[in-house]
Parts: sequence; structure tokens; C-alpha cells
Amino acid sequence: PLDPDADPTDGALSEELFARARRVIPSGVNSPVRAFGSVGGTPPFIDSAAGALLRDVDGREYVDLVGSWGPMILGHANSLVVDAVREAAGRGLSFGAPQPGEVTLAEEVISRIGPVESLRLVNSGTEATMSALRVARAATGRDVIVKFAGCYHGHVDALLAEAGSGVATFAMPGSAGVTASTARDTVVVPYGDRAAIRALFAERGHEIAAVITEAAPANMGVVPPSGGERGDGVGFNRFLAETAHAAGALLITDEVLTGFRASREGYYGIDGAVSGDGAWAPDLMTFGKVIGGGLPVGAFGGRADLMALLAPGGPVYQAGTLSGNPLATAAGLATFAQLDEHAYKAIGRASSTLQQLVADALTAAGVPHVVQTAGTLFSVFFRDAPVRTYADAKAQDTGAFARFFHAMLDAGVYLPPSAFEAWFVSTAHDDETLDRIAEALPGAAKAAAQ
Ligand code: PLP
Repeated sequence: PLDPDADPTDGALSEELFARARRVIPSGVNSPVRAFGSVGGTPPFIDSAAGALLRDVDGREYVDLVGSWGPMILGHANSLVVDAVREAAGRGLSFGAPQPGEVTLAEEVISRIGPVESLRLVNSGTEATMSALRVARAATGRDVIVKFAGCYHGHVDALLAEAGSGVATFAMPGSAGVTASTARDTVVVPYGDRAAIRALFAERGHEIAAVITEAAPANMGVVPPSGGERGDGVGFNRFLAETAHAAGALLITDEVLTGFRASREGYYGIDGAVSGDGAWAPDLMTFGKVIGGGLPVGAFGGRADLMALLAPGGPVYQAGTLSGNPLATAAGLATFAQLDEHAYKAIGRASSTLQQLVADALTAAGVPHVVQTAGTLFSVFFRDAPVRTYADAKAQDTGAFARFFHAMLDAGVYLPPSAFEAWFVSTAHDDETLDRIAEALPGAAKAAAQ
């Protein structure tokens, strides 16, 4: 551990570690966006974190707006979560046998999300979406999956075409190493394009197993679905459910990122409630991030008849040595225990304040920008018109973002190192933290304007 009283160095230790990392780890990182490829520079190597703050190995401190890309909704090293993990660790790290925490965690998710009647735990969001696709294909006896450009569902072969997140950050069309036959079974549609969906179903409806969509896309920046939340007619997700069901296909809503963050009941809590009489529901849903409280967890669930297809009761094989790990369920449960209405109010307040601060600073510096939200989630696009599709998102000024990003980092604020990501706040983002961000913003906005 670092000496907390030592003077920060100028980043020399991070530089040295990154050089060592690049010799033994591809591009020096275990997940692409961490390499700072699109913004340039050396990523700080993190030594420790507490509340809303990160501290790097050079002793520099940052207000964190990444939150490990979503899980750290209570801030870092939340004492109740850490205590729960410590207590669980004392009773054994993994059993490979049923344990009570798995049941309680499934009950917690099911109690919050109406369409989830049955849930299985996995180790990542990627595993969750991969498994949900398998269930959908088994249930329908069909092969084709429909996804939207700019939506990211993890690094599942079938879902990498025109994906968001790191694939967007590095402007990749998809991924090498995905077979032509896999790619053929995935149809990509522009986000929000109802006419394209209608035309696709008219032509190939009988081949389509499922449509998968982020409940509210947040991996090309935040692009809320049309309708629903804003009350202008049938929400896009409801439209997808109705169109898919009319053709005997399924709808999978991916709430890995939005789940238990956009609201207490995830994005479905916003969209399902206002999209009419609540009669619409996805068939399957996927979760991750928040449900593991910072440990590696994902989950997929939905209609009991579909989930009953899973082995050993049914013919769809799906398994995991560490699935339902006792430390992971302890962290998830200790997180859920603190995620009450009060917590969501605090997150909503911090999110709104931050949105206003950023918009004011960018406006004052004359930097074109749009702030978009989905519940308490938000992101900032460096362009002057609303973003409704991946093509819109790609039309932003990523150079301005990179200058803004580095000026914020130099001033002690750690933003997602990509213009295509949501900004993550937590219950630990109190007034003092927000003041620190407010101080950094005018200088960063000026840097973006250059
Ligand atoms: N789905 C969505 C909507 C995500 O945002 C992510 C990760 O960012 C995933 C799936 C994949 O989750 P994981 O990185 O845990 O595999």
C-alpha cells in the first residue's frame, strides 16, 4: 500500500507499469478502453479507492466518474459491502455447490423486476447475453438474432457487429475472428428505426429467434428509447416486444448497465411503467455490474417457461465453476440492501447537478454539446444536435472530447476515456466531490474549445 503522506510523483510509476504491462499483456490491458487508445496518454494504474475517489500508484487522487463502468453505485470500498465480503471469505471462497446467497440474490432481483420469474447467475454480462441468446434460439428453433447498431452486449461472437463501447471507441466495424456463418445469423438495424424493424419482420420474421436491445442504450453514449419515458406514443421497447411476439420471436432487454442504476427497478421501472398499462414485457433480461457490487457477476432471467429450458431440467446447456460464488453474492446482497429510494434520490440529485455543471461550463466556453439521460444515467455528446442513432453518436467531435478528458484528468477528475460512454455517479458523490468537479470544469471546457 502507498504511504498516504507521500508526495505524489509525476506519473512515473504508472508509466513504468504500463511499459511492463505492454510486454506481457496485449496492449497492456485486460479490457480495451482502459488503454486510453482514443484519448492518448498513459492510464494511471490504480492503487486504491474509497467513496468517490481513486488513488493511483503515483499518489495522485481523482474524483471517479467511471465507477468500474457501473458496479460501484455505492462508491468504492463501501464499508458494509467490504464487511460482507470479508465475512463470506472467512467461510470459504467457493463451494461449487448450492449456497444460500444465490437464492436470496435471485429473490431480490425477482422482487424488483416484474418480468423476471426465474434467474440464473453467471460471471459476467457477456455470459448473460450469450446464454440468453442460446435460450431464445432453443425456445424458437430459429437462428437469426436482431441487434441494433451502437448497442453493446459484451464480446459475444454473434453480438459484436456494429457494437458500442470499446468497439465504438476504436471505430471497429466488428471483430476479426467471428465466423461468416455466425455473422450471417446476426442482423443489425439502426437504433430506433421502426420502419426497418417492420420491413425486416415482414421479410424474415419466421427466421428470427430474438431481438436484443439495451433497455436504454448507454454504450454509444446514452440514447434513450423513443416514446415511453417521454410519453410520446408507444415506447420503442414496447414496439419491439409487440413486433417480435406477433412473429413468434422473443425480446431480450439487456439491463447489464441500466439494471438497478437507471432506477430501483432498472430501465424497465421507467419504461414498463409509463408505456401504457404495463402489459408489455421482455421475455428475457440480462443483468450484471450492480448486482455483483464490484465482484464478477452477471445474470439472465425472465419467463419461467423459457428458463425451464436450462439444464439439468431442460435441453439448453449452461454452467459455470464459479457461478453463484459466495463472495460475489455477498457483495451483491450488501449492495442491494443499501439501494433504497433514498439512495436513488441521492444518485439522481448528484447526476442532475453534474449534468447542469457540465452543460454550463461547455456553454460558457462555446463548446457544442448535448447531455442525454435515461433515468439517473447520463452522458455528454460533443455535438450540437440530439443523438438518436449510432451514426449520430459517431458524428461528434472526439478530438474536443480528448482535450476535455485530459484537462479533467490533470485537474483530478477521472472520466470514462471515451466519448461513447456514460458517466457513472454513486451515492458517494456528495457536495464536496461535486465541488471538486465544478472547479475542474471551466478549464477543461476551454481546452475542449481550442
Ligand atoms: N451488456 C451491456 C449493456 C453492457 O454495458 C456490458 C458491459 O459494459 C455487457 C453487456 C457486458 O458485460 P461484461 O463486461 O460484464 O461482460
